[in-house]
Order: sequence, then structure tokens, then C-alpha cells
Amino acid sequence: MSSSGGIQIPGRLPLLLTQEGVLLPGSTMRLSVDTPRNMQLVRSRLLRGTSLKSTIIGVIPNTRDPEHEADELPTLHSIGTAGLAVQVVGSNWPKPHYTLLITGVCRFRVSSLLKQRPFALAEVEQLDKLEELTSTEEVTAEDGELQELSQRFYQAALQLVGMLDMSVPVVAKLRRLLDSLPRETLPDVVASMIRATNKEKLQVLDAVSLEERFKKTLPLLTRQIEGLKLLQKTRSPRPDDEKRVFSVRKGAVFPGRQFSLDEEGEDEDGDDTAALERKVHRANMPEAALKVCVKELKRLKKMPQSMPEYALTRNYLDLMVELPWSKSTKDCLDIQAARILLDNDHYAMDKLKRRVLEYLAVRQLKASLKGPILCFVGPPGVGKTSVGRSIARTLGREFHRIALGGVCDQSDIRGHRRTYVGSMPGRIINGLKTVGVNNPVFLLDEVDKLGKSLQGDPAAALLEVLDPEQNHSFTDHYLNVAFDLSQVLFIATANTTATIPPALLDRMEVLQVPGYTQEEKVEIAHRHLIPNQLEQHGLTPQQLQIPQDSTQEVITRYTREAGVRSLERKIGAICRAVAVKVAEGQKVTKPEEPVPASPVQAQGGESLSCLGITPDEMAAPPEMPIVIDHIALKDILGPPLFDMEVSERLTLPGVALGLAWTPLGGEIMFVEASRTEGEGQLTLTGQLGDVMKESAHLAISWLRANAKRYRLTNMVGGPDPMEGTDIHLHFPAGAVTKDGPSAGVTIVTCLASLFSSRLVRSDIAMTGEITLRGLVLPVGGIKDKVLAAHRAGVKRVILPKRNEKDLEELPANVRAELDFITATNLDEVLNAAFDGGFPGTASTHTHPQLLSKL
Ligand code: ADP
Repeated sequence: MSSSGGIQIPGRLPLLLTQEGVLLPGSTMRLSVDTPRNMQLVRSRLLRGTSLKSTIIGVIPNTRDPEHEADELPTLHSIGTAGLAVQVVGSNWPKPHYTLLITGVCRFRVSSLLKQRPFALAEVEQLDKLEELTSTEEVTAEDGELQELSQRFYQAALQLVGMLDMSVPVVAKLRRLLDSLPRETLPDVVASMIRATNKEKLQVLDAVSLEERFKKTLPLLTRQIEGLKLLQKTRSPRPDDEKRVFSVRKGAVFPGRQFSLDEEGEDEDGDDTAALERKVHRANMPEAALKVCVKELKRLKKMPQSMPEYALTRNYLDLMVELPWSKSTKDCLDIQAARILLDNDHYAMDKLKRRVLEYLAVRQLKASLKGPILCFVGPPGVGKTSVGRSIARTLGREFHRIALGGVCDQSDIRGHRRTYVGSMPGRIINGLKTVGVNNPVFLLDEVDKLGKSLQGDPAAALLEVLDPEQNHSFTDHYLNVAFDLSQVLFIATANTTATIPPALLDRMEVLQVPGYTQEEKVEIAHRHLIPNQLEQHGLTPQQLQIPQDSTQEVITRYTREAGVRSLERKIGAICRAVAVKVAEGQKVTKPEEPVPASPVQAQGGESLSCLGITPDEMAAPPEMPIVIDHIALKDILGPPLFDMEVSERLTLPGVALGLAWTPLGGEIMFVEASRTEGEGQLTLTGQLGDVMKESAHLAISWLRANAKRYRLTNMVGGPDPMEGTDIHLHFPAGAVTKDGPSAGVTIVTCLASLFSSRLVRSDIAMTGEITLRGLVLPVGGIKDKVLAAHRAGVKRVILPKRNEKDLEELPANVRAELDFITATNLDEVLNAAFDGGFPGTASTHTHPQLLSKL
């Protein structure tokens, strides 16, 4: 800092303790002062003092509790920054406080505290030698390493400033400052400008040696540059012509509307029933409905208002006039635009998008809705609902989601008869009332979770809703007149087809939506989830940047799912944490009433003008994004929930890794076995279904029958592995029910490992059904299972030979990163599962087939 050249700070300094941040030499900061000691300091030193010396105070970051009047001073941080108070602003609202504008001059160390009251005063030792910091060469020439560091730092600082908007005056000035300031002052100046936590800035303050200071600041600077690079990437327009899509969207929703809401007579005063009558006649309802309404109106007129039935009839009529009997939106389908819109809203899922477009195209050509209903089947969070919403948008239709999970009463669909007290219409009619048009897109969510009860089967009611032959005259029990549903576009979603009632499934065309790979998730996060969450939390990319590495870490270590729902939630959590920081930052720079001119102001202004920067400019450095790195992730989301546990857990004989399919996607599943002395009993734990228990018995029988060939032994080396031995097989995650035959090969491998005391390869997972004769039969869910293995970091997968064809559905990168071994019999499985093969297997003529990079 050339302006301070020659300044020797006083040997005694009043100390200002602040919690608001860390003042570094060469930077300017606004501080709000409201504790009694600090207020006293301002009054007696800054507002009364007249000399330049009296405006130099020591600023010490207080990382501990706020200071209270009665308390002793907390233990002081030993290093602080001597600062020049350049402006003092006072205010009485909401409580008396001062705002100081302070420019840091140099570091000092507290030698001893002289007094604590009325404000802290300390003997200090100046640490930065101001006189020497005037030219660049003097210091740097001394030490090659330091010179190199300072050069690297300077280049990085140049790069950073180059990335900022030069048209902002403060940025342009900063650019000039970079050359005019001595290099040694750069770490402090830069550290105070960039986004860094107080802890990080404190480390910079504590770095008394210049070399250490460069080393501490350089990573912060690099991180900020990375953040800005990401920001620029986000800003640069994507290849897709977004403008066009925007106009498509706008056009899609608005001009299509044929109806206009009644402007006149909505809620007229005067005769209530007369207004209602007018509405009935204006509602454009079909004849049958009109007749019923007229009849009910007549009854209503005769009823005294105090009668309970009056309210019932009134409610009924209100609903009847509100229903969109003949209000509809006009479809404006343009397949070209629909393709762009689907692509813009969703990354990957190409097969699904293609099928949806075909469906829409056929509908456009035929101009009819007859045909199967689309049903998206897949794990949660893979975008089923969101595709439904996009379809509505491409058509310019209203969208409404009807959650069917847990619905077990048919009146949920079809309404209650009006004879019941508290009767109401079903969800379909309610949905129509909500959207206000008779041709919305209805998403029937979770059709696989429909229940059944004594109150009738909701699936049967749903059938009537979906059947194009019947649904033009759907009769809700509450309405008791037919409503035409034939213009509604129904789409269903489910996690599995297994529990969809067969009659319903028969009406639907099932489109599988599989889980995503890690790489797809990273893309989805950066293209969709992060921008959406930023918007929802009122943040901009200028305020928050999440680099790809961090997203990757959230995906692998904080979530384990097929879809992206918890990923979205975790990103939301990051946004919330950052929103708090951003809101806090805004609070500090609130403008306030200036106190009448004080000598301080004049002096301070002068000293800063040597830097060519006005106090206000320095106090508000250019906006830079907060970058979420590894440490920030840990602070916000806590310690990782999942670590790569696979290889760790496969370090004992008697453990093997299987692959399971669940409605929530594929999962890896450990199988563990242990043996103790006993009478040949088999214990199974882990909530297994019958089929799975049978697999376990089959596996034991096979291994006993082949014990000699495989050279398996019991605990004392005898030829029958079960003799004098009890076996316990456990399937961890004991609270989850498991069933199905596909764990057969895993159980055999696990037991073979136990009986032979050999370790299963730590990088392998497997699936396949077994027979008593040792054959391996095909199983379902291969794609989801392999994706789960890939997520968990497995390198090789054993699967039944007849499942080979299923591998074609896998994304190319997953196929490239995994080795697949297909097997027709258990010899091949065991050979592949153990390093160097398994003894006794017929390895010569049935060598397992390694499908090299399909
Ligand atoms: P589902 O209905 O399958 O349970 P959602 O449609 O609710 O899942 O999706 C959860 C979130 O993930 C939504 O915010 C959705 O936009 C997002 N999402 C899922 N898949 C994709 C994708 N391929 N591209 C963009 N966003 C996606």
C-alpha cells in the first residue's frame, strides 16, 4: 500500500472486536458497532479525536461469543489488523449503533492487554513492515520460490479480474491496481475481494509470513476462478435455439384458449337464487344436466335458507355451474415444437421421448383420443410426472395430477351419493373443477398403489373412467348426471406393473422409464435441477456455483437412488444454506443516515483516494459466486451418508454381492453366511420370502452334492460341509422384505466361499436363478440391476447367459465400464467369482464367457 509507506502504527491501539468478518490490510470494510465497549471506543477515539493517529484502531476478529457489558473480554485472537477509520455513520434505529468504514493498514500482534474498560486498549507489535512494501522487486528478488509464487498469484489475479465485467468502474480500477500495487499486498487485497468464509480469511490474516500468505490465498483465488468459469458456461447460450422454444411455449398456452371467463355478473348482489339461475343458464351444460339444475333450483327457491338441505342443494348447484361443461382449450400441437420442448425439459430418456412423440403424432393425425393410455413405469424421481407435465404443455392443455396411492374406496373416484352427509364429488370431477376446462391432461399417479376395501374396488371405477366406450357419459355419484370425459387425456404412472390390476393394465401401454447412470445424473443436475432450484430459492448463478466434482460427490456419497429426487432435495438444501449467507450479506450493506461531518471522514477520504478508490466502491466488491467445494458440501450436508463399501465388506470368506430388483430401482444386496458347531441346521434371517428361502435350500443341496468335486469341507475338515455344522445365512438391510429367485447364484457363491474359506472377488456382483441340477436360469430387471452395480462401483457382473440380450438396453458408457460374464451353469459362476477360478469346476470346456466390451 503505497499510501501508507512510512506509517508506523502507534505502539498502543484501542481494540475493536468484531464478529462480522475479517478485515485484511489493504481492504475496506463496513462494520456495524453496537456493543458497549466498541461504542465507547467510537465515541471517545473516533468522534472526538482530531489527529490521524487517533483514527487508527486495532480490529480483532472475535470468533467467540458476542461481547457483553458485564462479561470479561473473551480470549482475544492474537493477530489483528490496524485500520484507518474513514467514515463513521450513526443511527438510533432499531437500536443505537455506528457503522464504520475502515481501511486495513497492516497486521499487528497483541503483546499485552493494558485495559478492558471503557474500551480495550493493548500494547501491540506491528507485523507488516510498511516501509518496505513500496516496490515489487525488493522483496521478491530475495527468494526464488517466493518470486515464483507471487508471479503465479499475480497471473491468477489478472485472470480473475479479466473475467469480471470491465465496464463496472470498480473492476476497471482493480485491473489498474493490480499493476500499481506491490505484489506482496495482493494476497490480502484479493482475499478480501473474493468469496471466502470468515474461517478462510482468518487463516489469511494469521499467515504472517508472506510465503504462507500466498499459499493460503492461491487456492481461494483458483476456486473463485473456477466458479466464474462455470458461471460463464452457464451463461453462454446452449446450442438449442431457446428463443424459439420460448415462443412456442407462449403460443402453446395462451392463444389456444377459446373461452373467456364471464366478466359480468360473477357475484352480483341482490337476489342470490336469481344470480344462480342466470349462471345455470349460462353454464352451457347439456340438456340432462340443465334439467336437473332447473329442478334443484325450483326446490331451492321453496326452501327456507335455515334448512340444512338448503346449503347442500346450493353447494351442488354451485359445483354444477362451475364445471367446465363446454369450456375447453384448443390443442395446438406442433410435433417439431413438441420435440424441442421435450428435449429442453428432459435430458436423456430418448426412448421414452420418441414414443411420446409417436403417440402425439398419431393423435394429431387421427384427431381422436381413442387408443391405449400411456403408463410410465419406473422408480421414483425418474421424471414420469415431469414428462406428463411437458406433454400437457406441448398440447397447450391444462395439467392436473390425481394421486391414487392408497386410494381404496371407489367413491374416491366416483364420489359419494348426495344422500350422505358430507358427500362430495370424486377426484375426477374435482380435478375438472380445479382446471376449469374439459380437456385437461390428467396424470393418474401411482396406479400400482390402488387398494381394495369393502367400499368397492377403485380400479373398477377407474376402468370406467378410462374406457373410451364409456367415459363420454361418466356419472359421478354426487353429480348424478353424466359428464363427458372423452376429451380428457389420461396418462398413468406406476413404480411396477406387478401390482396394477390386470384389467387396468390391459388398457394401458406400458413405457418403462429406467433409472439414470451417474453421468446422466450429473447432466440432469446441471441442466435442470440446479437452475430450477436456484430459481426457486431466489438465487442467481452469480451467487452460487456448484462445480461438476461437487455434484458428482453429492450423487455418489449423499444419495443412492435410481432417480434424481433426493439429488434434487440435496441441491435444495445447498441453495437454502447459500440463501441465508446471501441474505446476511445484503443486510450488512444497508444504507444508513450519516452522522454530521466529523474530522475523520475528511482524513479517511484523503488516504483512500491515494488508492484511486472511493470508500463505497471498496466496501462493495463486485458480486462473485459462492463456490460449493468439498468442504462446503460437508458443512452443509453433513458427513457423507454412503461410502464405497463394497470392497470393504468383501474381505471375509462367506460374503458375496448380489443384485436385486425393487420397485424403487435396482439395488446391490450383500449375502452373508457363517457357520458354528451344530446339527446341520440352516437359519435364514433378513425377512425373506418363500421363494428366496427355497433358493437357499437349493443352494445347500447343490453344494453338498458337489462337495467332493469342489473340495468343500466342514469345520473339522470332513467331506460333508453340513456335518456337525449349523449354517446361518443373513441378508442385511434386515428390515426390508426380500423375495424372488434371482439370489440363487449369490447364495451358492457365498456358501462356496464359506465352505472353502476362499474370498469372493471384491469387484464382482451377480444375479441368476438356480436349479437343483446346477443350471443358471434367466431373471428379470437386468437393466436396473446392472445400473445399481455400476452406481456402487462394481467392475464385473455375472448374469445368466439367456439374459445377454437385455444388455443391449444399457447406456454405452455403462457397458464400456463393466465386464459382463454370462453363465449357463454354476461351475461357470464359481469360476468367475473367485480369483484364479474355483477348484473342481469343469473349467476346461465350460469356461465362463467374458463378454468383452459389448
Ligand atoms: P417421478 O414422477 O418419476 O417420481 P418426477 O417427475 O417428480 O419423478 O421427477 C423428479 C424431479 O426430477 C423433477 O424435478 C424432474 O423435473 C426431475 N427430472 C427427472 N428426470 C429428469 C430428466 N431426465 N431431465 C430433467 N429433469 C428430470
